[in-house]
Amino acid sequence: MTNNTIDLRSDTVSKPTAEMRKAMAAAPVGDDVYGEDPTVNRLESMVAEMLEKEAALFVSSGTMGNLASVLSHCGRGDEMILGDLAHIYLSEQGGSSALGGVHPRPLPTAPDGTLDLDLVQSSIRADDEHYPRTSLLAIENTHNRAGGRCLPVEYMDAAGEVAHRNGLKLHVDGARLWNAAVALNVAPARLLQEADSASLCLSKGLGAPVGSVIVGDSDFVKRARRMRKILGGGTRQAGIIAAAGIVAITEMVERLADDHANARKLAEGLAELDGISVDPDLVETDIVYFELCRDDMTPAQLSAGLKEAGVLMNPAYARFLRAVTNVGVSSDDIDRVLDAFARVLDSQGGADVSAVRKYG
Ligand SMILES: *Cc1c(COP(=O)(O)O)cnc(C)c1O
Repeated sequence: MTNNTIDLRSDTVSKPTAEMRKAMAAAPVGDDVYGEDPTVNRLESMVAEMLEKEAALFVSSGTMGNLASVLSHCGRGDEMILGDLAHIYLSEQGGSSALGGVHPRPLPTAPDGTLDLDLVQSSIRADDEHYPRTSLLAIENTHNRAGGRCLPVEYMDAAGEVAHRNGLKLHVDGARLWNAAVALNVAPARLLQEADSASLCLSKGLGAPVGSVIVGDSDFVKRARRMRKILGGGTRQAGIIAAAGIVAITEMVERLADDHANARKLAEGLAELDGISVDPDLVETDIVYFELCRDDMTPAQLSAGLKEAGVLMNPAYARFLRAVTNVGVSSDDIDRVLDAFARVLDSQGGADVSAVRKYG
């Protein structure tokens, strides 16, 4: 990969900023399993305050955050309602089932990333010895597979209302909740007002090298802390990486608007090209899914051709590819990407597909 490669495979490719590296070098640290790492403790209290929850917990990844959360809400044999395109359902190895015996009840995901709440209501099990006990509703905001769509405040509140009316907890997979908050111009805490727990990534658009945070009430976070330990996620001088997380939440949130504008610009440019189908109006945050509509070229061939032209993006599913803008990609880069597309689409496929690797 050369220095001027434009990497749109994911916002996870973002590298820590110079300020993050400085903060990491200077961070006071201690043993976080003893609760003695001042930098981890500071990050956790800042996030709890920002999201208006009682407590927060620093974890190694979004996957660990979701898993520790689900296992803190559900016992073995409990049922969790979630979307059939949810990251928890599709892309986390079924960990809550494999490790926690939690039974997933996938419902159809609407194109805007929501679940039909009437269907959620009617899917909640009656008290009957034939059935598992439904104890959790999990939703995702922004919704990754729906193309980074934002679930608005009214929907978040309504989902909490359905869950709580039926004695369920509400978990929010908020890997990109900060993106939703910026795009909707609303405080992230407001989106989580009815949530019993949420997991948010520091290492995607916010650019930290490692880590996620989960939030909830003190009892939940106490259980999640035990769960993190059994999952192997109790770490020691974690302040070294939490320090970058503090820079991420204080310095890197507002600039997500640039990623969103670049994603929209990319979608608008792609919409002009023959052989590409995309609706720029549906691009609300940093993710662009677009369809390749040509018989003589596969998404893998397009991806390989772009790679030769210095642009990385992955085939997604069916005829779709995915591009995700990030802090390493400028508005000028988007112009270069669109030029590369025009050239590769003109050159009629045939590129070497063995060079393409798929990333999550
Ligand atoms: C990336 C992602 C996760 C998992 O985060 P990792 O840090 O990669 O484990 C969870 N949910 C959603 C919606 C994501 O996009």
